[in-house]
This record gives sequence, structure tokens and C-alpha cells, in this order.
Amino acid sequence: MESDTIVALSTPPGEGGIGIVRMSGSNSLNIALKCFVPAKSKRKNAPSLTPRKLTYGHLVDEKGSIIDEVLLCYMPAPNTYTREDIVEINTHSGVLLVKTIIKLLLKNGARLAEPGEFTKRAFLNGRIDLIQAESILSVIRARSEKALKAAQKSLTGHFSEEIKNILLELQEILAEIEAGLEFYQDDLQDEVANEEVLLEKVRKLVSKIEQIQKKGDKGRIFQDGLKTVIAGRPNVGKSSLYNFLLGEERAIVTEIPGTTRDLLIEYVKIKGIPLKIIDTAGIHKKGEIDPIEKIGITYSKKAIKEADLIIFILDASLGITDEDIWIYNNLIAENADAVLFLANKVDLGRKINREVFKEKFKTDFYIEISVKTGEGLNKLEDEVERLAFSGEAIEEESIIVLQLRQQELITKAKKHLQNAMQAMERGIPLDIVSIDLQLAVDTFHEMLGENIGGDLLDNIFSKFCIGK
Ligand code: GDP
Repeated sequence: MESDTIVALSTPPGEGGIGIVRMSGSNSLNIALKCFVPAKSKRKNAPSLTPRKLTYGHLVDEKGSIIDEVLLCYMPAPNTYTREDIVEINTHSGVLLVKTIIKLLLKNGARLAEPGEFTKRAFLNGRIDLIQAESILSVIRARSEKALKAAQKSLTGHFSEEIKNILLELQEILAEIEAGLEFYQDDLQDEVANEEVLLEKVRKLVSKIEQIQKKGDKGRIFQDGLKTVIAGRPNVGKSSLYNFLLGEERAIVTEIPGTTRDLLIEYVKIKGIPLKIIDTAGIHKKGEIDPIEKIGITYSKKAIKEADLIIFILDASLGITDEDIWIYNNLIAENADAVLFLANKVDLGRKINREVFKEKFKTDFYIEISVKTGEGLNKLEDEVERLAFSGEAIEEESIIVLQLRQQELITKAKKHLQNAMQAMERGIPLDIVSIDLQLAVDTFHEMLGENIGGDLLDNIFSKFCIGK
């Protein structure tokens, strides 16, 4: 397979024990041998290396000066990540050192890889389909063990198989329509019977797709985290709860997206479910005494609207206040299904009346807790789990991690099939129905990366980092 040879650092940049510089392409070995001297031979252009075995030696520049002590591994095509010849050089990891090594390889004929180009080659050379390629992103970015397992499963082609099976069934339906169009021309009764059978088949496919979507919804929670907002008026214990949830081992990552506003996002885990807690512009600051109007601005309305879970805290020792009701009605009620009410500070007293509660908040379900003593916090965790998955048990088979592109294409394919279904129900001629079915077929092909344009591919792989 002729292709130019690409090079990139495949481990994270910076100081570290080892950095791996990877080359892929038909010239990899030649380029490596121009600057690699195996330890024993002490000469350049040493005899060929044993494939897939590490060879100890030195990288040297054109004057023969040593750049680094390395281990080199040559993996000949086609059984490699890209299906091309690959050379991996284990170097020491330092910013300047790696830069120097890459420069040396560039000088000897390699080209700097674009983001995701190794994986793109694996796709273009037919080792993996596009769903598998994208699942590599999901593997790298997994935030929970369940998401990781589900992503690994997609990587092995499990989900692609599912899509291919649906495709096959669709193509059979289309073939039957085509055959039927000729066959049943003179027999109206048979034609009607045939249409019933076909309609049932399409219905079954739609429900299969709905199952995939359901699994994808669960996967999204395990992958991206349950979007969570902790809300309530000042001093009810929001930051105390936040800190409890963040407690040492629970905190996984902190990231501060520099976009829109400075929303601080923390990931915590409750019962293995990652919660993406969105700190809405400092509502967790201690001793905050904003007037109600200001709270309206402070809270990110958008975050609350989009939240999967809103933990709304009241102070049980003070009872329900006007301020609580104002916040609930003005900021939270529009996403009422996502709300989990907590009555905090029960160690100081219980002044919340269930009847009044029901009248104000249209539900009498709340959990009494004390962040201070720990009372009720287990119940809170159980409830979060129940809310996240509507009480359903979470087995491994019930999760798929889908990239956004895949989610969108699944929705699109479902729409085409639903259109076909409705058309059939209304007795629209099958040759018209088959147009929608064909569009669904095309959509599934797009998912797998068949007949996909170069720009779209570049866009997909640009989400990968350089070296992947
Ligand atoms: P926020 O303004 O809603 O973030 O509230 P904080 O978390 O800052 O809490 C306000 C005050 O209430 C602090 O002094 C906390 O120590 C205290 N507090 C929080 N939770 C409890 C609780 O369960 N019991 C008691 N007695 N005090 C609490």
C-alpha cells in the first residue's frame, strides 16, 4: 500500500518516563534506519530488525551525535493499527527531546501527522469501520467503567454488527418490494397481504432502533455524566453538599470551559454514575446573600433548563420560605421532572410540613438529610440512581456509547423508517415507500462510513488528538 509516511508523538506531550513517537507508512522502516543505530552493531543501516521485537539502540543525527537512547519496534503491514508499516520509538519524554526526534524524522522523509490520522488510515485501509473508529474516542474519553466497557464493545465491532443486521433486513424489505411490484401486479389480494407483512417488518425495525436509542441514552449518562445543578437559596447547604459529593475519591476531573460563561464543571460519581455538576456562577460560594432578583441572574437558567438532575435544597430547620417558592417557580419549575428535593439540616429541626410542601411543589416527595451529620445521604444516592435510569436496572448489554454523529444519524434513519411506515399505513404505493426505505439505508451506510465524503471524514477525525 503506497502512502506517505506520517509521524507524531502518540503519548501525551510533556515530561514523563517514556514518550512514544510513531510512524506509519511504507517508508517508516527506511526513515527509522537512517537515524537508528542498534546498540551492538555500532553502525548505521544495520541489518533488518526483528519485526515486533523491541531493539535497543540510539537515535543519532546526521553527524552521528546521539540524540537519545531508545527502544525501537518495527511492525510490518498489514497486521498493524493502520494496516501500514509502523515504527514505534520509545524515547525519554521531554518537550525539546521529542521535538528534536520528530524533526529528525521529518528531515529523513516523514510528514507530520494530522489529528487522528493514524486512526483515519485504519479506517481508510478497511481495518475498522467508522463506528469503530469513533468508539476509540469513546474509549479514550470514558468517564466510568460502564462507559469504558460499552465503548470497548463498540470498538470490537459489536454495535457495527447490530447496524449491519438492520441494514440487511432493510435491504431484504427493499428487494421484496421490488420483486412484489412485478409479481403481484394482477393480484390485489396477495398484494395487500404482502404489504401487511412488510409493514410489520418495518415496525419491528423502528422498535429495534428505539431500543438502540434507549441504550444510547443510558450510555450518554455513563459517558458524559448526568448534567446536574445544585440549586436553592443562600445558606441552605448547597456548597456543603457539593463538597460532600466531591469528597476526595469522588472527584474525577475539573475542567473550566472557556466558552460562554465561566461555568465550573466537576465530575463526581454516585454509585458508579458520573454526575457532571455544573456550578452555576458561584452559587456554591459560602455566605452568599444575593437578593432574589440577583439570584435569577446568578443561576444559569440555561443550565437548569438543560439539566438531567436538579438537586433543590431547602432548609428543613426553617421550613419553606417565600424565597424557596420564588426560586422554584421562576427558575426550576419548567424542568420539574428532573427535580430532587432535599430538606437539609434536619439535625437542627424539622419544620417542613408535607401538606404545604405538596401544595407548593406539586409533589410530597423529598428526602430529609443533614450534610453535617450524614443522615439521609445514602437515600440521596439511591434516589439519584433511580432518577437517572427511571428505576431500570443497568446491565452491561443495555448500554451503548454513541458519538453525537451516530446519535443524529440514528434519529434520521428512524425518521425515514417512520415516514415509510406511515406511508404504508395510508396505502401509499410501495414504489414511493421504497424511497424512504432507501434513505434509511443510505443513512446507515453513512454511519458505517461507507460512501462518505472527504470533508466529513476530516471533520470526524479532527476530533482526535495528534498521534492517535
Ligand atoms: P449555601 O449558601 O447554600 O452554599 O450553604 P452552605 O453550604 O455554605 O451552608 C451554610 C451554612 O449551613 C454553613 O455554615 C454550613 O456549615 C451549614 N450547614 C450546611 N448543612 C448543614 C446541616 O446539615 N446541618 C447544620 N447544622 N448546618 C449545616
